[in-house]
Amino acid sequence: MLLFTRILGWFLILTLYWAMEWLNFVQVLKSAFLGVLSILTLSSWTLRDGRESRTGRFLNLLVVFSFLAICGFNSFLRDVFGVAQDDLIVVEALFNTNGGEASEFILQNIWPLAKHLTVVILAAIFYWFLLVWRPSLFRMSSGTLAADSRAKVRTTRIPAVVLTLLLLLVHLNPTMRKEDPLLYFPIRHAKWERYVERARVLQEKITDSVSTDSSLSSMSYEGSGPRTVVFSLGESITRLNWSLYGYLRTTTPELESLGPRLVRFTDVITTLGSTVGDIRLIMGPATRAHPDLYMTTPDIVTIARRTGYKTFWITNHSTDMTGALSIIANHADVTVNVNRGGSRGEGSYDEVILPELEKALDDPAPRKLVILHLLQAHPAYYFRYPKPFALFNNADDEVTRALKSEGRSLRARKMRDYYDNAILYSDHILKATIDLCDARKEQNIAWLYIPDHGEDVAHYSNFVGHNTRVPAMFEIPLLLWMSDRFPLDLPENEILEDRPYQTDLMDQTILGLMGIEGDYYDPARDILSPEFKPSPRFIGQKPYH
Ligand SMILES: [Zn+2]
Repeated sequence: MLLFTRILGWFLILTLYWAMEWLNFVQVLKSAFLGVLSILTLSSWTLRDGRESRTGRFLNLLVVFSFLAICGFNSFLRDVFGVAQDDLIVVEALFNTNGGEASEFILQNIWPLAKHLTVVILAAIFYWFLLVWRPSLFRMSSGTLAADSRAKVRTTRIPAVVLTLLLLLVHLNPTMRKEDPLLYFPIRHAKWERYVERARVLQEKITDSVSTDSSLSSMSYEGSGPRTVVFSLGESITRLNWSLYGYLRTTTPELESLGPRLVRFTDVITTLGSTVGDIRLIMGPATRAHPDLYMTTPDIVTIARRTGYKTFWITNHSTDMTGALSIIANHADVTVNVNRGGSRGEGSYDEVILPELEKALDDPAPRKLVILHLLQAHPAYYFRYPKPFALFNNADDEVTRALKSEGRSLRARKMRDYYDNAILYSDHILKATIDLCDARKEQNIAWLYIPDHGEDVAHYSNFVGHNTRVPAMFEIPLLLWMSDRFPLDLPENEILEDRPYQTDLMDQTILGLMGIEGDYYDPARDILSPEFKPSPRFIGQKPYH
């Protein structure tokens, strides 16, 4: 009877999670099986004569609570982001982060986190109630039964031993093993570390031995004279919120002031909707169709170095120093982390990048590739701009009215305001980086900008954050500015700007700008080339038009 209520209780809790669509069927089945087996095993040790010590009950609660915590975590992911626990975006976010980023994530998602935490706690209370509950009917019958069965129950430990063995046996299955709450994070972390380490080893091999890669040896600088390419790599920017692309709030006035000097591409999408995943595709020969190529082919930083470019990686992402992207960042001749706060939340505004850009531009090397990795609108948005740029807070304008008429919550509208402030500040910083290039009239400089991916900021619902289910996550700006003497003949802006492009081919455009040719360069995939041909584009498995 006691066992029956426990198992029924656990099933009821899981049914609730399933009914709310917080867990999918497979997740429910695994939790049900492993949970029941764990409850039975532990109870078979702690229950004697239908009685259980306080410690026994507490251990039971602990086991169920650990399962509940994992259910809550999986539910939060599925409910808020529509992703499962082993999705690349989740693994990357979990293990490629640091304390500062994590605390900002918690702040930005405080309400959905609180909701799922509350459900976990309520479910644990419900289960505790089942553990201590003694229906009067049962108490009477157990009193009479106890005498008969005491001898039997006390002497036989066989079921407990069998169940324990069974539980251990189930752990031989890797898919079940990694759903065990105790092993849940350690197994995933170990896997992530092996993954990063494998990539690092492979990449080191590439960097060290030019001779073994004949394709890399085939790459060479085919231009003439000195040139500098500045590649500004942004963060979480959808073009839907840029007035340069028709947004109703004036979020990009400084870039607009450049007029036709700025080439503004109108039909560019990113590929995966995740920072590390997309940057890998952007920075090297890996593509949507062949994402693992990054492990066996050189990135553009390596190619640039081999062909006589001095390379700079200047970042305001502190995670670039230790995380998965450090593999690429460390290939540069000069790698600088300008984020001086221990945390991304310390207000390390992107302006910290400017003095380092100046230094790189003034470096006497004849050919330079300067990569600026900006924070831009990385959640939490309200940490991304100084006060004077908080222009859209509670603005009574068309955007606010449209959001209200579509029934968006107050929180969603506030997030939109913060996000647009971050765009306004990003506009200021991007223009400042162009100004620094423009001030060096004696140099031939090309400046290119894309973000890693877009962002959903209450565009379709009250959802705010990374959302790979919607176009705003993929539709991004692509900008090009060149100094007057930069040695590249472009097609007319009208022809150029509407070319369809996906950023997994971005390395091709950067190589073209640098004047580097060879086996790893295909002009048909370079958006600036006269030989450009549109490639098929996909978001997930779906063709994108
Ligand atoms: Zn990102």
